[in-house]
Amino acid sequence: MSRPAGVRRLDEVTAVVLAPNPSPLTLEGTNTYLLGAPGSGEVVVVDPGPDDPAHRAAVDAAVAAAGARVAAVVLTHHHADHAEASGWAAAWGAPLHAFAPGLVPAPARALGDGGTVAAGGVALEAVHTPGHTGDHLCLRVRDTGVVLTGDHVLGRGTTMVAWPDGDMAAYLDSLRRLGRLGAGALYPGHGPVVHDAAGLVAAYLAHRLEREEQVLAALRAGDATPGEVVARVYADVDPVLHAPAERSVRAHLAKLVAEGRATARDDRFAPR
Ligand SMILES: [Zn+2]
Repeated sequence: MSRPAGVRRLDEVTAVVLAPNPSPLTLEGTNTYLLGAPGSGEVVVVDPGPDDPAHRAAVDAAVAAAGARVAAVVLTHHHADHAEASGWAAAWGAPLHAFAPGLVPAPARALGDGGTVAAGGVALEAVHTPGHTGDHLCLRVRDTGVVLTGDHVLGRGTTMVAWPDGDMAAYLDSLRRLGRLGAGALYPGHGPVVHDAAGLVAAYLAHRLEREEQVLAALRAGDATPGEVVARVYADVDPVLHAPAERSVRAHLAKLVAEGRATARDDRFAPR
């Protein structure tokens, strides 16, 4: 069987099509995953991605090359780089599944924690992992032990936990939950496959706790506004990322305030 350009096979039941939307936050672009056992005639599409005609053509070609039809579409979360193309589900005649149907741009069925989408000889189990967004799901592939991680963790660098949609305390809990799944490999929404799942989760936890200490240290040094904290903590980061960094700092500050470790008044913060 010929394989169209732009699709890569990752394991027996999984292929990935890279969307053409690279950026500092999406890395090479969004990974659109196709899952289905060979010969089953069906695939499940996870995160159709941006509503881009070239990407649609690449996904359609990959589905056709597999001799399959799309039996279901699942979203890890509502951000546009994952969910903008939600309407493709209706065009394919397939149901769309999301944790929070009200947040996505096409009619969807609610997929809650522990819920399963089964088609094409594979079963995807939803694991609610709030933090990056409140509606974020990781998807555990029961047949392979792989976990599709959306934006919960990425294949390279770190993900955004951006206030107010992002919740840092929930995010850390969700990282620990991902660690407990004991995944054999992680297939992220952006970037390459991660083979050392436990090591990546540990590194993400360490990174967030280190950032939290840096934010507290900045407050102790006299910084009061989120902008001042960003200028100190992210001094070595490309300024194009300072606006998202400020939303991340706000997520850290909200956690510190909620835990009674900092105080907030008129958007000025102080250690406690
Ligand atoms: Zn996202």
